[in-house]
Amino acid sequence: MIPENTAIPEVVFIGRSNIGKSSLINGLVNRNGLVKTSSKPGHTRMMNFFKIGDKLSLVDMPGYGWKSRDEWGDMILSYLQNRKNLRRIYILVDPSHGLKDSDLQIMKLLDGSGLSYQVVLTKMDRLSRTKYGSSKAEIEAQLVKDAICCFPMVLGVSSRTRDGLDELRAAIVKASQL
Ligand code: GDP
Repeated sequence: MIPENTAIPEVVFIGRSNIGKSSLINGLVNRNGLVKTSSKPGHTRMMNFFKIGDKLSLVDMPGYGWKSRDEWGDMILSYLQNRKNLRRIYILVDPSHGLKDSDLQIMKLLDGSGLSYQVVLTKMDRLSRTKYGSSKAEIEAQLVKDAICCFPMVLGVSSRTRDGLDELRAAIVKASQL
Protein backbone atom coordinates (compact mmCIF):
# COMPACT_ATOMS: atom_id res chain seq x y z
CA MET A 1 0.00 0.00 0.00
CA ILE A 2 1.29 3.46 -0.90
CA PRO A 3 1.49 5.74 2.14
CA GLU A 4 -0.42 9.01 1.93
CA ASN A 5 1.53 12.10 0.94
CA THR A 6 3.14 13.33 4.13
CA ALA A 7 5.49 16.10 5.12
CA ILE A 8 8.40 13.64 5.40
CA PRO A 9 10.93 14.19 2.62
CA GLU A 10 11.14 11.25 0.28
CA VAL A 11 13.93 10.00 -1.98
CA VAL A 12 13.31 7.32 -4.56
CA PHE A 13 15.60 4.66 -6.03
CA ILE A 14 15.00 3.22 -9.48
CA GLY A 15 17.01 1.08 -11.87
CA ARG A 16 17.01 -2.06 -13.94
CA SER A 17 16.30 -5.35 -12.19
CA ASN A 18 19.28 -6.82 -10.32
CA ILE A 19 21.12 -3.50 -10.32
CA GLY A 20 21.84 -3.74 -6.59
CA LYS A 21 19.02 -1.51 -5.33
CA SER A 22 17.96 -3.58 -2.33
CA SER A 23 21.57 -4.07 -1.26
CA LEU A 24 22.18 -0.33 -1.55
CA ILE A 25 19.17 0.64 0.54
CA ASN A 26 20.24 -1.94 3.09
CA GLY A 27 23.73 -0.47 3.15
CA LEU A 28 22.46 3.09 3.43
CA VAL A 29 20.28 2.47 6.41
CA ASN A 30 22.98 0.25 7.86
CA ARG A 31 20.66 -2.42 9.18
CA ASN A 32 21.18 -5.77 7.58
CA GLY A 33 17.95 -7.55 6.96
CA LEU A 34 15.81 -4.40 6.80
CA VAL A 35 15.50 -4.78 3.04
CA LYS A 36 15.48 -8.28 1.76
CA THR A 37 18.08 -8.78 -0.97
CA SER A 38 17.78 -11.40 -3.60
CA SER A 39 20.09 -12.92 -6.18
CA LYS A 40 17.15 -13.39 -8.55
CA PRO A 41 16.67 -10.74 -11.23
CA GLY A 42 13.46 -8.82 -10.91
CA HIS A 43 12.81 -9.87 -7.34
CA THR A 44 11.82 -6.41 -6.14
CA ARG A 45 8.43 -6.09 -7.77
CA MET A 46 6.65 -3.77 -5.40
CA MET A 47 7.36 -0.31 -4.10
CA ASN A 48 8.88 -0.64 -0.64
CA PHE A 49 9.01 2.28 1.78
CA PHE A 50 11.62 2.63 4.49
CA LYS A 51 11.06 5.38 7.00
CA ILE A 52 14.08 6.61 8.90
CA GLY A 53 12.58 8.05 12.07
CA ASP A 54 10.33 10.91 11.04
CA LYS A 55 13.08 12.57 9.00
CA LEU A 56 13.24 10.74 5.72
CA SER A 57 11.60 8.06 3.67
CA LEU A 58 13.54 5.91 1.18
CA VAL A 59 11.45 4.37 -1.56
CA ASP A 60 12.54 1.24 -3.39
CA MET A 61 10.78 1.17 -6.77
CA PRO A 62 10.29 -2.00 -8.79
CA GLY A 63 13.14 -2.69 -11.19
CA TYR A 64 12.51 -2.10 -14.88
CA GLY A 65 12.17 -5.12 -17.05
CA TRP A 66 9.38 -7.05 -15.39
CA LYS A 67 6.54 -5.08 -16.93
CA SER A 68 6.29 -3.55 -20.34
CA ARG A 69 8.17 -0.27 -20.45
CA ASP A 70 5.01 1.73 -21.00
CA GLU A 71 3.30 0.13 -18.06
CA TRP A 72 6.33 0.68 -15.84
CA GLY A 73 6.71 4.26 -17.03
CA ASP A 74 3.04 5.06 -16.46
CA MET A 75 3.02 3.56 -13.02
CA ILE A 76 6.21 5.25 -11.88
CA LEU A 77 5.49 8.61 -13.48
CA SER A 78 2.00 8.89 -12.04
CA TYR A 79 3.46 8.14 -8.62
CA LEU A 80 6.38 10.55 -8.93
CA GLN A 81 4.37 13.40 -10.41
CA ASN A 82 2.02 13.33 -7.43
CA ARG A 83 4.49 13.19 -4.56
CA LYS A 84 4.74 16.67 -3.10
CA ASN A 85 7.40 15.51 -0.65
CA LEU A 86 9.62 13.96 -3.34
CA ARG A 87 13.10 15.47 -3.07
CA ARG A 88 15.29 13.39 -5.35
CA ILE A 89 15.26 10.39 -7.62
CA TYR A 90 18.35 8.20 -7.79
CA ILE A 91 18.78 6.18 -10.96
CA LEU A 92 21.08 3.22 -10.40
CA VAL A 93 23.34 2.15 -13.24
CA ASP A 94 25.91 -0.64 -13.40
CA PRO A 95 29.24 0.85 -14.58
CA SER A 96 30.25 -2.55 -16.00
CA HIS A 97 27.34 -2.32 -18.44
CA GLY A 98 26.98 1.44 -18.95
CA LEU A 99 23.76 3.29 -19.75
CA LYS A 100 21.14 1.12 -21.40
CA ASP A 101 18.33 2.33 -23.65
CA SER A 102 15.87 1.68 -20.84
CA ASP A 103 17.87 3.99 -18.52
CA LEU A 104 17.94 6.75 -21.16
CA GLN A 105 14.23 6.38 -21.80
CA ILE A 106 13.43 6.71 -18.11
CA MET A 107 15.65 9.79 -17.87
CA LYS A 108 13.85 11.37 -20.81
CA LEU A 109 10.49 10.63 -19.20
CA LEU A 110 11.63 12.22 -15.95
CA ASP A 111 13.12 15.23 -17.75
CA GLY A 112 9.87 15.68 -19.65
CA SER A 113 8.04 15.86 -16.34
CA GLY A 114 10.54 18.24 -14.74
CA LEU A 115 11.61 15.64 -12.19
CA SER A 116 15.19 15.92 -10.98
CA TYR A 117 17.39 12.87 -10.60
CA GLN A 118 20.96 11.81 -10.04
CA VAL A 119 22.81 8.79 -11.40
CA VAL A 120 24.44 6.40 -8.93
CA LEU A 121 26.84 3.76 -10.20
CA THR A 122 26.53 0.51 -8.24
CA LYS A 123 28.89 -2.43 -7.59
CA MET A 124 31.99 -0.31 -8.17
CA ASP A 125 34.06 -2.99 -6.40
CA ARG A 126 33.67 -5.14 -9.52
CA LEU A 127 35.87 -2.82 -11.58
CA SER A 128 39.46 -1.71 -11.18
CA ARG A 129 39.88 1.96 -10.30
CA THR A 130 40.97 2.69 -13.87
CA LYS A 131 38.07 0.85 -15.48
CA TYR A 132 35.61 2.44 -13.07
CA GLY A 133 37.03 5.89 -13.86
CA SER A 134 36.73 5.42 -17.61
CA SER A 135 33.23 3.98 -17.38
CA LYS A 136 32.11 6.90 -15.19
CA ALA A 137 33.63 9.41 -17.63
CA GLU A 138 31.90 7.70 -20.56
CA ILE A 139 28.54 7.72 -18.79
CA GLU A 140 28.92 11.40 -17.86
CA ALA A 141 29.85 12.26 -21.44
CA GLN A 142 26.82 10.40 -22.74
CA LEU A 143 24.49 12.22 -20.33
CA VAL A 144 25.80 15.54 -21.60
CA LYS A 145 25.86 14.51 -25.26
CA ASP A 146 22.27 13.31 -25.17
CA ALA A 147 21.43 16.62 -23.48
CA ILE A 148 19.91 14.84 -20.53
CA CYS A 149 22.02 16.78 -18.00
CA CYS A 150 24.26 19.86 -18.18
CA PHE A 151 26.40 18.99 -15.19
CA PRO A 152 25.89 15.34 -14.35
CA MET A 153 26.87 14.61 -10.76
CA VAL A 154 27.41 10.91 -10.90
CA LEU A 155 28.17 9.11 -7.64
CA GLY A 156 29.70 5.65 -7.25
CA VAL A 157 28.94 3.13 -4.52
CA SER A 158 29.65 -0.43 -3.50
CA SER A 159 27.29 -2.03 -1.04
CA ARG A 160 29.86 -4.77 -0.62
CA THR A 161 32.84 -2.61 0.41
CA ARG A 162 30.62 0.30 1.56
CA ASP A 163 32.65 2.68 -0.60
CA GLY A 164 30.72 5.81 -1.54
CA LEU A 165 27.90 5.25 0.94
CA ASP A 166 28.85 8.25 3.09
CA GLU A 167 28.95 10.52 0.01
CA LEU A 168 25.55 9.25 -1.07
CA ARG A 169 24.14 9.73 2.44
CA ALA A 170 25.43 13.33 2.40
CA ALA A 171 23.83 13.93 -1.02
CA ILE A 172 20.53 12.48 0.23
CA VAL A 173 20.55 14.70 3.32
CA LYS A 174 21.26 17.75 1.16
CA ALA A 175 18.54 16.84 -1.33
CA SER A 176 16.04 16.17 1.44
CA GLN A 177 16.58 19.67 2.80
CA LEU A 178 15.93 21.43 -0.51
P1 GDP B 1 17.98 -5.43 -6.96
O1 GDP B 1 17.24 -6.46 -7.76
O2 GDP B 1 18.27 -4.21 -7.77
O3 GDP B 1 17.34 -5.08 -5.65
O4 GDP B 1 19.43 -6.05 -6.65
P2 GDP B 1 20.03 -6.78 -5.35
O5 GDP B 1 20.37 -5.79 -4.28
O6 GDP B 1 19.13 -7.91 -4.96
O7 GDP B 1 21.42 -7.31 -5.94
C1 GDP B 1 21.47 -8.10 -7.10
C2 GDP B 1 22.76 -8.92 -7.09
O8 GDP B 1 23.89 -8.06 -7.14
C3 GDP B 1 22.93 -9.78 -5.83
O9 GDP B 1 23.52 -10.99 -6.22
C4 GDP B 1 23.87 -8.96 -4.97
O10 GDP B 1 24.65 -9.75 -4.09
C5 GDP B 1 24.75 -8.28 -6.02
N1 GDP B 1 25.26 -6.98 -5.54
C6 GDP B 1 24.52 -5.98 -5.03
N2 GDP B 1 25.31 -4.93 -4.67
C7 GDP B 1 26.58 -5.30 -4.95
C8 GDP B 1 27.86 -4.65 -4.80
O11 GDP B 1 28.00 -3.51 -4.33
N3 GDP B 1 28.95 -5.34 -5.24
C9 GDP B 1 28.86 -6.58 -5.79
N4 GDP B 1 29.99 -7.15 -6.20
N5 GDP B 1 27.68 -7.23 -5.94
C10 GDP B 1 26.55 -6.60 -5.52
